[in-house]
Amino acid sequence: MRKQIVAGNWKMNNDIKETKKLIKDIKKGIKKIKLKGTRVLVSPTFVNLTAAKDKVKGSKIEVVAQNMHQAKSGAFTGEISASMLKAIKVKSVILGHSERRTYFGETDAILKEKVNTALANKMEIIFCFGELLADRKNNNHFSIVESQLKNALFHLEASAWKKIVLAYEPVWAIGTGETATPVQAQEMHAFIRNLLVDKYGNDVAENTSILYGGSVKPANAKEIFANPDVDGGLIGGAALNATDFVALIQSF
Ligand code: PEP
Repeated sequence: MRKQIVAGNWKMNNDIKETKKLIKDIKKGIKKIKLKGTRVLVSPTFVNLTAAKDKVKGSKIEVVAQNMHQAKSGAFTGEISASMLKAIKVKSVILGHSERRTYFGETDAILKEKVNTALANKMEIIFCFGELLADRKNNNHFSIVESQLKNALFHLEASAWKKIVLAYEPVWAIGTGETATPVQAQEMHAFIRNLLVDKYGNDVAENTSILYGGSVKPANAKEIFANPDVDGGLIGGAALNATDFVALIQSF
């Protein structure tokens, strides 16, 4: 059975003090609610991962990295490897976020390599993808999403999908305050699940969590998460506020 997941992508926000405080507040907040099996993920910057790992102890919160390099090690100044993450017991990584694609030139081909490296290191991947506004306006959104998935993930064996969480994030909805309507979200998530059925069969399709990301807030989460093919959210802005984040966890 696929899991419901609420994942906070903190991006380049929160120094160490703020990281600890936010985790403390989320911990306090989720103590008061029933998680009902929902996974709660937070993704601080690399420098704060160790402190975050320490701070989540005694709670169900999982700590996730925002990125990693595809190479094992070597002359890649400023980069972080999978084995470095594993050494501090970070077992999941976000790959393919639109900001990585847009500002750091991550292509489908690079992401395919990152996916392979993460899996070779037994890491779980939260794989982000989604169309630009122009793609949607030109009615190319389904074909863009299909090619992003095929190019970076569809070379994998069915067994690898136990380690993959998908995060559909229409780029026009990220940090813009504009959200896909529940109908648009469900339509795309059903399309994605059907791609998985066609390529891998029902088992993989039914067991893969597909998250929605793009300006999810407590005010709109319930109707987005209520869709049968939406298994939770990847949250940017609203994940930086403990009260909002806990409210999102309660929105199933
Ligand atoms: C994101 O960065 O993945 C995201 C969805 O951001 P926001 O919630 O701020 O749109």
